[in-house]
Amino acid sequence: DHKLENKVAIVTGAASGIGRASALRLAKSGAKVGLIDLKEENADTVKQEIENNGEEAIISDTDVSNPQEVEASIQKVVEKWGRLDFVFVNAGINGRVAPIEDLTPDDWDQTLTTNLKSTFLTAKYAIPHMKESGGSIVITSSINGNRTFTGFGMTAYSSSKAGQMAFGKMAALELAEYRIRVNIICPGAIETNIGENTHPDKQKLKNIEIPVEYPEGSQPLEHGAGSPEQVADLVHFLASNESSHITGTELYIDGAESLL
Ligand code: NAD
Repeated sequence: DHKLENKVAIVTGAASGIGRASALRLAKSGAKVGLIDLKEENADTVKQEIENNGEEAIISDTDVSNPQEVEASIQKVVEKWGRLDFVFVNAGINGRVAPIEDLTPDDWDQTLTTNLKSTFLTAKYAIPHMKESGGSIVITSSINGNRTFTGFGMTAYSSSKAGQMAFGKMAALELAEYRIRVNIICPGAIETNIGENTHPDKQKLKNIEIPVEYPEGSQPLEHGAGSPEQVADLVHFLASNESSHITGTELYIDGAESLL
């Protein structure tokens, strides 16, 4: 299992959930990994886990919506290991969950900036380092980006996730000449901490009827949510040469949740 030997990867949102599991998976396969996250302490725990397995990682305390910080964090990785082969654009938040008329312009900006502007910024500052030898970029969107809209109150989130899909496809076309592949993954519900800071105002949302009752054991394949490790296996596949002819696609990883 050393398909990524001598490769250098960056993972954003690496301190938790899907990012953490993917960073561990990439390192296990031989990649050196730059861990980018706001939460330095948690990222440090992931770095320790990787080092305990005899692999290499560095951390960068970065807000992915800040251009200077993103540019500096990518620079730090390239200076350390001299190349960049894979970028997992994954950091994201649910943002405020509320009916449209109660969402403030600042709520909207926070979600769109953290999820979508950050996608542009991470790609923008990574591409110059990947043009010469090619590489792979994976963007974490969601089934909420175009297939499943049961998350009432999540207009900002779904808009950001749909935007990431469009961005990824345009980027795949634009970067094909450099042999940089760009793919979009669309997870269904995955067991992570993402809901931790989301406190929907149930009172305000109660007048919006959800047309289909969310079934118990929502994913036909799992009878529940998927795991970050299952997503990490897909990320690893898209980082490796096993996916060398796959670019510009949306890959759903949801145990058929979006078909219900
Ligand atoms: P998580 O909360 O466990 O991890 C997200 C990480 O991103 C955290 O460590 C957080 O500190 C970091 N982060 C947030 N804002 C940041 C910023 N501005 N700068 C740097 N780091 C920042 O959540 P997760 O579920 O692993 O989410 C990862 C991605 O997966 C997100 O883009 C999310 O939208 C997407 N997703 C998650 C699910 C799910 O059910 N968990 C489903 C579909 C898509």
